[in-house]
Amino acid sequence: MLKIDHLSTSYTTIDGPVHVINDVDFEIYDNEIFGIAGESGCGKTTLLKALYDIIEFPLVVDSGKLILSGQKNGKDFSYETGQIRNTWWNNISYVPQAAQSVLNPIVPLKNQFLDSIPKADKKNETKEQTLKRVAAYLEELSLSPDLLNAYPFQLSGGMRQRVIIALATFMSPNVVLADEPTTALDVVVQRGILMMLMRLQKQLKNTMVIVSHDMGVHYQITDRMGIMYSGSMIELGKTEDIFNKPIHPYTRMLVGALPRVGDKSQKTGIPGRPPALTNPPPGCRFAPRCPKATEECKKSVPKFREVEKGRFAACHLLNKGWCKMSEKLLEIK
Ligand code: SF4
Repeated sequence: MLKIDHLSTSYTTIDGPVHVINDVDFEIYDNEIFGIAGESGCGKTTLLKALYDIIEFPLVVDSGKLILSGQKNGKDFSYETGQIRNTWWNNISYVPQAAQSVLNPIVPLKNQFLDSIPKADKKNETKEQTLKRVAAYLEELSLSPDLLNAYPFQLSGGMRQRVIIALATFMSPNVVLADEPTTALDVVVQRGILMMLMRLQKQLKNTMVIVSHDMGVHYQITDRMGIMYSGSMIELGKTEDIFNKPIHPYTRMLVGALPRVGDKSQKTGIPGRPPALTNPPPGCRFAPRCPKATEECKKSVPKFREVEKGRFAACHLLNKGWCKMSEKLLEIK
């Protein structure tokens, strides 16, 4: 569905390019919820923007490309970087970060729906007919059609988020990208939003890509996930494997720091900070924080490669074999 083909991007600054995405290469499949996790500033949002083709100066593509392809209504489609925006809403849509503040607070929701739905989908309908379809869709999502007459300022943050998700999925896009969809919402509302996304994915049988720094979100709803660190994808696989059998030292420490029911051991964060993207260390970027770092790690960048079917990671220790690797990493707290 989405192929990210050796993509590298950078921001142009007066001090020179700042490389935010480094040779990221993976695929996102049809009919799955794919998660992208990592600390703030690791490049998750930039990657999501690139997937949605929002590549505008000072962000530039240095190399590689994205390919969005699939089938809709019995017809094949294929778009590359620079063309994907031609199919916004229809084949791909985007729920941005802090989506609750995207809606114009003083314009009734019905007008915002009418303005957002592309002309091509209105099929020579009258406004009333389009609104009738929107009202029916809201009902399908267990939302009241009366919302269409409301102003965004009258709604809670959670309800605005639901409306944005309804807007983004109204045209049954093949891919929905959601950036931190539960941020700034209380736990109960978060759960409702996650359930809504899962239900929608099952109904549309499409692809959802969820960016979140919250590992709990990935655990609850994603089928597969990728872990990013300092602009690179460092591990990718089925979500259950990432949580139960993490490979990369960073993932191992990240998962090890999560609280678990019944586990009374004291949890600590990962010591140190991610490197500044303006001046990253040579070799593996995790080396300054990695308890397993060797001299080789400080000099050469580990390759992101498949270590078993569908399981990818970038770490020099992998050269010593998958099983040995798992045993060794058990020592990392
Ligand atoms: Fe640690 Fe070396 Fe693996 Fe990087 S390559 S994660 S420094 S062991």
